[in-house]
Order: sequence, then structure tokens, then C-alpha cells
Amino acid sequence: MSKLQDGFPIFRVALPLPIFRLFDYLAPENIDISQVKPGMRVEVPFGKHTKCGFLVECVQYSDIKTDKLKVALRLLDDVPLLSGKDLKLLHWASQYYHHPLGEVITAAFPVSLRQGKVAQLRSEKAYKLTELGQVIDSEKFKRSPKQLSVLEKFQQHPQGLSESQLTAWNDNWRTSVKQLLSKELLQLTSDAMPTDIKLVGESNLICNPQQQSAIDAVRVGLGHFAVFLLEGVTGSGKTEVYMQIIQEVLARGQQVLVLLPEITLTPQLEDRFKRRFAIPIAISHSKLTDNQRQHAWLSMRQGQTSILLGTRSALFTPLKKPGLIILDEEHDSSFKQQEGFRFSARDVAIVRGKLLNIPVLLGSATPSLESLHNVNKQRYQLLHLPERAGAAQAPSLQLLDIRNKRMHEGICESLVNEIHKTLAKNEQVLLFLNRRGFAPTLICHGCGWVARCQRCDANLVIHYDEQILRCHHCGQEQRLIRQCPACKTGELTALGLGTERIEKILSELFVEKTIVRLDRDSTQRKGTLEGFLEQINQGDVDIILGTQMLAKGHHFPNVTLVAILDVDSGLFSIDFHAAEKMAQMIVQVSGRAGRAEKPGRVIMQTRQPEHPLLTTLIREGYRSFANNALAERQAALLPPFSYQALLRAHAIDAESAMTFLQVVSESARILGSSHTQILGPVAAPMAKRAGLYRYQLLLQSTKRQDLHLLLDKLIPVIEKHKLAKKVRWSLDVDPVDLY
Ligand code: ADP
Ligand code: ZN
Ligand code: ZN
Repeated sequence: MSKLQDGFPIFRVALPLPIFRLFDYLAPENIDISQVKPGMRVEVPFGKHTKCGFLVECVQYSDIKTDKLKVALRLLDDVPLLSGKDLKLLHWASQYYHHPLGEVITAAFPVSLRQGKVAQLRSEKAYKLTELGQVIDSEKFKRSPKQLSVLEKFQQHPQGLSESQLTAWNDNWRTSVKQLLSKELLQLTSDAMPTDIKLVGESNLICNPQQQSAIDAVRVGLGHFAVFLLEGVTGSGKTEVYMQIIQEVLARGQQVLVLLPEITLTPQLEDRFKRRFAIPIAISHSKLTDNQRQHAWLSMRQGQTSILLGTRSALFTPLKKPGLIILDEEHDSSFKQQEGFRFSARDVAIVRGKLLNIPVLLGSATPSLESLHNVNKQRYQLLHLPERAGAAQAPSLQLLDIRNKRMHEGICESLVNEIHKTLAKNEQVLLFLNRRGFAPTLICHGCGWVARCQRCDANLVIHYDEQILRCHHCGQEQRLIRQCPACKTGELTALGLGTERIEKILSELFVEKTIVRLDRDSTQRKGTLEGFLEQINQGDVDIILGTQMLAKGHHFPNVTLVAILDVDSGLFSIDFHAAEKMAQMIVQVSGRAGRAEKPGRVIMQTRQPEHPLLTTLIREGYRSFANNALAERQAALLPPFSYQALLRAHAIDAESAMTFLQVVSESARILGSSHTQILGPVAAPMAKRAGLYRYQLLLQSTKRQDLHLLLDKLIPVIEKHKLAKKVRWSLDVDPVDLY
């Protein structure tokens, strides 16, 4: 151990590396130590390169000899970019998820800042009318309506408008502004922009009593920590509730963080927010450029923007004046990160709310069993919207027993008739099938050969449009073959149904009708999904066909018939989460039906019409299903009545992965308490994926504390294990997917 002279302390730095230790460096010379604060980014030498790390603390002692310590190169920030409370949150998350601190802190930053770039908000340009522009004759702009509308906007705001104010008003202002600049009707203005320009937004709806009491409950709770669960059937007006609460937060001069599970949902919510608030709204998700994300991050940090709309990764965005966190569709498993730092954005949001002393509002039509359990335990306050808002009625659900029925490939004849009837009334139909591609299996009719992925325990999926076979687990592709490689003579047959195949059948059954397919393959190009959604909303589409992409949040007012083509595929999983996910999916998809004045119907094709999950859901609704499922989990001591962590190991040979976990499980049995259970190791449900053999060990306890104490002791054992270098391992605390 070495002690240094006072005034030359040691920087203890967290580096973005997958190892559980911090790194000590000598502080750079000529810096004022009194100005150094935890959380500052620091550039340090590492191997042959440099890295951007985060200062955790300044210490006087190091276990490493002084002459072995390298000198940190420089501090990258004058002040820490994260607040003390947010750093505390990250420390907590690192401990709770047993994930290296450096990687956890890094996850809170946009990529450019992780790489050490200067944290400076690019100053915005602002424009105002020139003298010429103030007296323009609108007749002259008859042929350029876009320019005219921009001019009129500026006439309403003679003091000028900034880029973000223009974007808040209309995304497509740039070309027109450029043209008006070249005509010298607009000019750049350097005047500091007044921040309180009131752009008028649309006004609030008149709330029904349930909406009003939900709004009031959260309003009263502002300024303190509390968790609210807004359980509102689809179409019950949750978004209206969010918006009216947000208004109150804005009026208090505070900021709101709104998290959504899916990127595809951000545009429509952004749209509704923009119409209502007409103030700049920051957006953050992984499809944006890093510049855009950095801008959103810094503008929230500096308080220039008051609303941030984002996905999971936006959770850690610093807030200058935090007021409220909203998590919409809280049940959605996309809130759980499934690789690297495997955190639950919902659970961490609640801890963040507690640290910041602000309320957290969770919303869903189908709340997770965990959240309902927390309501039962009176940890969360339930706000209930049992009815659809406005004139819309709840859809009716019905099972269609397809056993021994005449089928048009995957569609039962009576369903075909229902579709015809609906289309005849000029209403839209939505068909749901959660499998993309043409068919999931290519099989030889002569010898039974099946096209398998060589790297996974999985069949290759036929993609007929692209004439390829693709593995949906590792992405490997090959040309669609015409001849059986085994017997050379047998006929190759497509077995099973995918959206591509249904699309083909539909186009044969409904010749004159417009069909749109929405899945990951058909919407890969940027903007295609938005284009399809617009086409649907304008009524240019008769039949919408899609995967789970459709299940979430979208609003299709003219859809009156929803059909779930294969409800059985979700009923027989070995993962105990599957029933919950299936029920949520059914209710969410159903929620797309009859959202406006016209009543909606939901038809589910099944060969299991007596299955208790389906019958409970249909006769008694989601809440009854959830209560039953919670009772089952309690009887089996499964989460939320116990706590789990899943240790996964992957290796190029099965033996290393298995041996590794066996050794770990032996240690776990010794180190655990009488309340911890060690289950496994066993082969993962998909035992081979992308060329790696996969095994897993489940650690479970009825006492959370005991589980975490065990993990604390176990990780050093794992890290020291000689196979740890050969085996890829990861720890998943509170796993939502046991695959
Ligand atoms: P959810 O988010 O719960 O699915 P939305 O907020 O999207 O529901 O509301 C569904 C529809 O009902 C929207 O078109 C919305 O404008 C409308 N709506 C919401 N609240 C009211 C209300 N109090 N009166 C009339 N219409 C409402
Ligand atoms: Zn064959
Ligand atoms: Zn594969």
C-alpha cells in the first residue's frame, strides 16, 4: 500500500469494462483538487490507448505501489455532468444488478460523451422577419403554400423563432426557411430568444370522473415520492390523464420524463404532445443520431427542455428540475434490457423517483403481475379507468374453435366470411400473427428432411419474397433451395404460417382490397412504418396484417374486427412468464378494435377452446386472469413471491459451459443461506444458438437480501474460475425471459 503526500491524491476511476474493479491513477499535476468532484469524466491511459472513465472518488491510498501508478491525463468536465443523486442511483444499480460500475455509468451517457467529447449544447439558430418580410403580400405566395405558412408563423411571432420552436410547430420547416432567407424575407437573429413564447396548443378534453380523480391523485402527490399504477383499459384515455398531469408539472417549472417501450410508439405520442403543449419536446431513442441524443440529453440537463420522450435508455437522462417520471405500457418486457447491463427501466425508474423525491406514474391496460402485487401490498396506489373514454365501447371477445373446420391455409372459412362482412361496411380488419416470414419450416415431403440452422437449435424460416432461408436467432441466411439435399427427389413443402404467407392468401381471397403487412421485414427502411400508419389512418387500407408490432399502442379508429390467427402458439411454453405475456398480448391486440364510435369484435382462432387462460380472460377479463396467475405464482413460490437471478453461460463446447456452471452451483450451495435455492445447471431451452452451447443456473430465494448476499459472494468466485475466460457468462437479476 502506498500513501501519497497530501495534495497529490489518487483518482479512483470506473472504466467501461466488463470487470468488477476500479482503477487507480495519480491525479494529473497542476489541478486544483478542491474543484474535483465524483462523476467527472477523466481521460486515462489504458494499455496502448486512452479511455474515458468516470471519477468515483479521490483517495490517499492505493493497493498499487506509487511508482506503478500511471498518471491520469486530464479531467474532461469542469463540473460533473450527473447529479449526486443520479450517481447514487447508478451505484445502486451496479450493486443491485451486480454489473460493473464503469459499464453502468457509461450507459447513462450518450455515445459522444462516453467517448470524451465536450459536453456543449450546440447553440440554436433563430430567425425573424426582415423589414421586407413584414410587409409581404400573401397573394404572391399562392403557389408556395409552405413558405406562406412559415411566413404567417413568423408574423405571429415578430420577436423570432428558434430552430426547436420551429420543429415543435412543424417538422418540415427547413426548406421553406432556406428559401425565405435567400429571398431576404427572413434573417438570422442573434437576440437572445425569449424562453416564454407561448405557442398556443390545443386545449384539454373534458375528463370523465375516473380520469379526473386519477389526475387529482397524482397532482396532489407532486413534490413527493409515490408510485401510481394507472390501470386503464385500452382507449380509456390514459394519454389524456398523462397530458393534464404534465401540464401541472410544467406549471411548477419542472421537467417530465416519459418512457415508452418501443421506438415505433414515440412518433404518435410526440405528435399528441406537440399538439397539446406546443413547446419543444426532446426525443431520445436508439434510432436517432448520436448528435440528436446528445442534444436531448444536454438540453434536459440544462433545463432548456421540459419534456423528454424516450425509450429504456433515456431513463438515466439528467434532469435539472425533475418533477415526474411516467412509464407507459409498464408491463412491456422491452423495458428490461436483455444484454450487457440487464436492468429493468421500470424498477430503476422507481428507485430514481425515490431518490429524487418525485412521483412515478406507471400506466397500462394490462399491468404486470409484479405491479399488481405491489398494489395489493399497498406499495403502489392504484388509479383505475375501467371504461373507454368518449363514445367508444369495449370490444367483444370470442373464441373460434377451428378443430375440423374448413381452412384457407391459416384462416378459417367462417373468419373469411366475417372479414367480407366487415369490409362490405367499409370498415377495416386487423389480423394478428406473431410470426414473420413465409413459413417457419421447410420440410421434404419425400424423406422428412428439415432445413435447420447449422449454428442454432432452430429451423430456418422461409422468406419467399427474398428467396432465402433465414435463421431468426442468429440471422444466418442461405438461398431458398428447390431440391431436397438429402434425397434429391422429394418435394420441398412449406410448413406452418408466417405473415408473408397470410398476406399472399389474403390477396387471393380479397382480390380488390388493399392489404398492408406490418412486421420487422416490411418496415425495415426508415419511414416505411410511418408511411403505412398514415395510409391506414387515411382509410386507404382495408386489411392490416402484422406481428406484435401492431399490439402496442397504435390507434386505428376504423378497425372494427380484430382476428388473432394463432392464439394456441403461446399456451404451451415452459417459461412461467409466458401465460402473463400471452394474456397481455391478447388484450392489447384486442384493444386495437373499435376505438372510436363503432363497436369492435375480436375473434381468436384456437384448437384449445377450453383452455383456462383463454376462458378466464374472455369471461372475466384481464384482472381475473391476473389474480389467478398471482395465486398460482404464490403457491409455487415464483416471482413476485420470490426473487430470481439467472446465470447464463455460453461456450463453443458444451462441456466447458456445463462444467463452469457446475462449479459455480457447488459454491452457491455452500455460500447460500437456508432461504436460497440453486436450480440447475441445465441446458437452456434453446441449447445452441449462433454456434454457442448454452447452459443456465437459476438462483432463487424468498428473501431478496439473501439472494443478493449470495450473488455478492459468488461473483468473485466466478471471476476467479479458470473457465471464466473460456466461457461467456452473464448474470440476469429479475429475469423476465428464461430463454
Ligand atoms: P389510452 O391511452 O388509454 O389507450 P387514449 O388516451 O389514446 O387512451 O384515448 C383514446 C381516445 O379517447 C382518444 O381519441 C382520446 O382523444 C379520447 N379521449 C380521451 N379522454 C377523453 C374524454 N374525456 N372525452 C372524450 N374523448 C376522450
Ligand atoms: Zn428429401
Ligand atoms: Zn441460427
